[in-house]
Formats: sequence, C-alpha cells, structure tokens
Amino acid sequence: MSRPELLFPLFSELETLAGVGPKAAKNFAALGVLRPKDLLFLLPHSGVDRSIKASLRDVALPATVTVEVEVGGHFPPASRGRPYRVMVRDAKLEFILVFFHAKGEYLQTLLPTGQRRIVSGKVELFDGVAQMAHPDHVLRPEEAASLPSFEPVYPLTAGITQKLVAKGIASALDRTPDFPEWIDPPLMDRQLWPTWRAAVQAAHAPKGPLDIAHTALARQRLAYDELFAHQLTLSLARATLRRGKGQVTTGNGVLQRRVLAGLPFPLTGAQTRSVAEIAADMAAPQRMNRLLQGDVGSGKTLVAFMALLIAVEAGGQGVMMAPTELLARQHFESLAPLAWAADVRLELLTGRDKGSERQMKLEDLATGRIPVLVGTHAVFQKDVEFHDLRLAVVDEQHRFGVEQRMELGAKGQAADVLVMTATPIPRSLALASFGDMDVSVLDEKPPGRKPIRTALIASSRMDEVVARLQRAVAEGRQAYWVCPLVEESEVLDYASAEARFAALRASLGEGVVGLVHGQLPPAEKDAAMARFAAGVTKVLVATTVIEVGVNVPNATIMVVERAEIFGLAQLHQLRGRVGRGDAASTCLLMYQAPLSESGQRRLQVIRDTEDGFRIAEEDLSMRGAGDLIGTAQSGLPRFRIADLERQSALMAVAQSDARKLLNDDPTLETPRGKAARLLLWLLDQDRAIRLLSVG
Ligand code: ADP
Ligand code: MG
Repeated sequence: MSRPELLFPLFSELETLAGVGPKAAKNFAALGVLRPKDLLFLLPHSGVDRSIKASLRDVALPATVTVEVEVGGHFPPASRGRPYRVMVRDAKLEFILVFFHAKGEYLQTLLPTGQRRIVSGKVELFDGVAQMAHPDHVLRPEEAASLPSFEPVYPLTAGITQKLVAKGIASALDRTPDFPEWIDPPLMDRQLWPTWRAAVQAAHAPKGPLDIAHTALARQRLAYDELFAHQLTLSLARATLRRGKGQVTTGNGVLQRRVLAGLPFPLTGAQTRSVAEIAADMAAPQRMNRLLQGDVGSGKTLVAFMALLIAVEAGGQGVMMAPTELLARQHFESLAPLAWAADVRLELLTGRDKGSERQMKLEDLATGRIPVLVGTHAVFQKDVEFHDLRLAVVDEQHRFGVEQRMELGAKGQAADVLVMTATPIPRSLALASFGDMDVSVLDEKPPGRKPIRTALIASSRMDEVVARLQRAVAEGRQAYWVCPLVEESEVLDYASAEARFAALRASLGEGVVGLVHGQLPPAEKDAAMARFAAGVTKVLVATTVIEVGVNVPNATIMVVERAEIFGLAQLHQLRGRVGRGDAASTCLLMYQAPLSESGQRRLQVIRDTEDGFRIAEEDLSMRGAGDLIGTAQSGLPRFRIADLERQSALMAVAQSDARKLLNDDPTLETPRGKAARLLLWLLDQDRAIRLLSVG
C-alpha cells in the first residue's frame, strides 16, 4: 500500500520547512521529529504569558514580562567577562537589558538608542535594580501582533530552540491539508471535537493554560486519533490472525480427566471458566489469540496445561514458552508431575541443548513423538519443526512484545496462541497492550492461601532482621533476600548482592546462603537455584532475577532491601514468591529512612493489600502509564499525546470503534476506511500498513 499523495507535503524532508536547515533537521531527530508531520505532533507542554504590560512596576518580580520600552544608552563591557548592558525605560520604570558574549554592532541594530521596542523575557532584581538578561523576544512596536499573548513552550533538545520549533511548526501548518474524517461522525458530534486540521492548529495556538491541558478539545481529539490508530493496528492484527485458517481442535477429555483425578484439589471456578473459554476457542475454526491474565498464585500453570492437553487429545502438539532459561526449566519441572499423571511425554528445549541430544529432540518433535514441549525462544529457531503444532502457550508476555506474538503465530501454520501474564494490568493498559486479544481472567485465588504478613522495617534495624533470619533458618525455614543492584555503583548507593551475600554468609554460616544474579553464567545460576529449591541452601540472596515465576514452596520469608526504590508491580511479584506452601509467610520490606512521601505511599499500598489488580491501579495512578512496568519491556506502546491514565475511557471507545470499522470494512476501502488509512500513515502504524498490504 503506497503512501497517499495527499500526505506528501507532510512526509517530505524536514529541510523543506521554512527556517529549518540541514543541521537543525538532524538535531530534531532526538525529539522523534523526522518529517514535517512529526512536528505537528510535537505539542507544547506549557505556555508563557506574553501579554504586554504597561510597566515592570505592576508585576511581582522575578517574572517573565513583556513591556514596551524606549531604548536608552548602550554600555559595552568594561572588561572581558563583564556583560554588555542597555538601559531601557517602560511607562514607569527604568531597567537594564543584560547580554553576555554579545556583539555590540548586533545590539546596536537590534536596540537603536532613542527608538521604541517591545521586549519580553525573565526579569530579576539585582541589588534592587531590575534586569532582563537575554530577552526572549525583541520586536518593533508594529510587529507586536506577531507575538502571541500566550506563547507555547515546546520540549527541546540540543541545537533546537523554541524559535526554531515555532518556525518549523508554522511552516508545517502552512502545508497541512484538510483530510477526510476518520473518526465516527456521531462520536465527533458527541464530543464536540474539531476536525484534525483545526485540532492541530488549535493545539499549537493555545490561548491560555486550559488549551494545554489534556481536557482541551483539540488535544482530546489528537489523543483519540493516537489511540484509535493504535487500536486499528491491534484490530487488524487480530483480524488477520483470526482470518488465517485456524484448526478445529477438540479434545476428548481423557487426558484432562487423568490429571484432575490425580490432583488433591478441584479447579477453582475461574480456572474452570478459563479452560472452557480456551477449549471453545480451540474448537472454533478461527485461530485463537487469547490472554490468560492472573495474579501470582492464581493457578495459571494448571490452566495452561489443560489447554495443552486438548491439543494432545486431538492428536496434535503443544508448546509452552518462557522468556528465560530459568523459567522454562521451572515450568518444565512444575508440569512434569502433571504430565506424568496424564501419561504424556514432556520435553524441554532451550538454547543449551546442543549436538546429538538436540538433534534427537528435534526429530521427535518433527515426527510427533514429543506431544508437549517446554522451551525458551529457542523454539523459534528455523530448524525446529513440529509434526502438528496446535497450541502455543507464551508465558510472561510483557517480556515479549506484540511483534513476537505475530512471529509466533507464523510458526505453527495455524496454531492457537495462549498468552499468560502474571502482571495484573489495569483495564486501560490491558487494552493498549493486548487489544488484539481476547482475555480470560483468573480473578479467584485457590482456596486455603494464607495471607502474607508484610512489614516495613527501616534499614537501621538490619541486625534484628538478620537475627530473625537466623532463628527462622534454625527452624528449617527458607528465605529470599532481594537486593537492587549487582555491583556496588559509585553513583547509586544501593546495597550490592555480592556484599550482602558475603555479610549474610558471615553471620549465618558457610553453605547456608546462596547467590543468584544476572551477571552469573547460566549454569551457575541454575545450580544456585537448584540448591535452594532442594533446600540445601536456606537463604537465597538475589537480584530481581527471581522476580517472576520462581516457585519454591518451602520459602516463607521474603526480604527486600531498599524496597522504596522498587516499583509496586515488582514488589508485588517479589512477594508472590512466598506464600506458596502451607506455612504462614512473611515479607519484610526494608527501606532507607527518610522515606519520600511517594515512597511511603507505595510501601503502604503493598503492606495493605495483596490484590494485584488494586496494586496495579494504584501504581498507574501514582506513576502514570509511560512509566509502568518499564515501558520498553512492557510491549506497551508509547503515545505522544494520549495519556493512558487520564484518558483510559477514550481507549475503550477507540477499541470498540476500531473493531467495528474493521468489521464493516475489513480492508479499509470505504471513504471512512480510506481516511483511516491516512491516519495510520500519519501515526507511523507501519505494522497495520503492512497487514493491509498483504491483504
Ligand atoms: P501462577 O502460575 O498463576 O502464579 P501457579 O500455577 O504456579 O500460579 O499455582 C500456584 C500454586 O497453586 C501451585 O502450587 C498450584 O499447584 C496450586 N494450585 C493451582 N490451582 C489450584 C486449585 N484449584 N486449588 C488449590 N491449589 C491450586
Ligand atoms: Mg506460574
């Protein structure tokens, strides 16, 4: 699908804009501005009042002020390093314009003695004398109209000034065409939104602070455009996946019954419901693309295995993938007894499989002798072939991205995809990350869980904590001890795992304490984990590598050092590592006093609730979406204008509207569909454009 001609002016080189040279064009890249259209989406983050005042005397200083003055005498610097000064007088007051490193000639032309000028800039008092250093604007009185009374302030980067941005934007606005409307007309009417062109113009010409707020209609519209484009992409991905000829996979229940008969507990209602939803998807001729969302300990593993068994019962294969070697191994271990009960062969494939052993596994996969495989991204590799792959389960989705999800779909010819995530995601974010999927939620925890006692302890009480640990170890209990960073950093005074390991070993004894962190070679990491899981070591000092999925039921104590610098989601995940067995568990959150207000609030949230969804909502409201879960890893899109936290309602509207548009017009051929294509181009939705191109 080639770019519509209507867009050409906004997609030309940046240098074609008035006032933008090759150097500036390069510098703009740091702001994500590569084409004229990107400038249009670079919105002011604030504004400055430039309305003309009669005199400085009417204003409380320091302040940014705009006044008309009569230019008085020039006073070049008396010596090097001193400023150049120009006396000026407004209606009531004389003050000084100050310039460092300025050329006298230039200033003579800019501010000729005896003439009138409008000057605007920050005024401060020095020894009772008002000074304006380097005015932001110097204009002739007849140019006054060119200075907006409320001047937008843009984000900048090296080599880019406000004036340059303003000029570039003005030039880009000049060549902005009217586009046909892509938003549903009734929605436009209901929201009182302006057209796209009017919205862009208004967003760059704020009349006051209200026009910069996210509630301004122009901004709302542009935010909606962004959300809508994103949802169109997700909906297109979803539609493409579903359109791909799926396989009808129905189980006969034989294997599932064997597993259920061997379990000491029944499935929870939420597990039963989720298994049924998955089974229905797998039985349907469309391809499944489903998210299984559940808090730590909600029993996702069992649900996923039930789903894998459906694939096997139907005569096919299933694969479960984890983001790391460690997690893959652990899934393998927790699935092993279930597979044994079902009498189904289970194998593990990771990057560490080499040589003939790997070759044998590949053969058995290709011939179907391995019905269920657990692995890392190693299963993506070209030479890995399945005999009849029906289901791919992907664990911990936030480590993979939307792109990988597509890649995975391509692997098994028409394999159903089930994504598991343990990160409770607020609804608005779930729509942003997983809007292309259908969702099953495990919102009910298995019964009999003992609540985890969570306490906040200042790091000054370290000795008490260690003494307590000593007693616990003597009673045969096990503990995690989480440190924030691996190596002592010069800049950041975080406790180092290495140092803590040494200290704890000294007080608890040789052989009792283990250590895992990201810098260790994988084999050592696994060995350390294995020793802890087997109960050989009693205390495991770790960085956040143990955050997700690690399961050692005998571990009942979680100590987190410098808890105040962890994110809420992370703390929640960490705490979820204990409370997995029959014994009561404790989580000790150590902090360095004094706590900031937000640090205190966050730790209190964790102490007061174990509900992952509540924690996620609190996290979102405290930090904002951009920051949540570490955006780069989260697979969460970055929005330039939309604010996921405050505009979550718009996201839901965008999703339903996008799905509806694609339902009515799957290839975007109607007038509104064609308009939507323009939007996809404008907002760099390359993936959507590719999907449309392949048809
Ligand atoms: P998640 O992967 O969602 O964090 P797991 O699947 O690891 O949770 O389950 C946590 C623990 O709960 C496991 O020991 C599992 O055997 C147990 N479990 C799972 N389902 C149930 C259930 N319905 N009733 C009781 N215990 C369950
Ligand atoms: Mg799990």
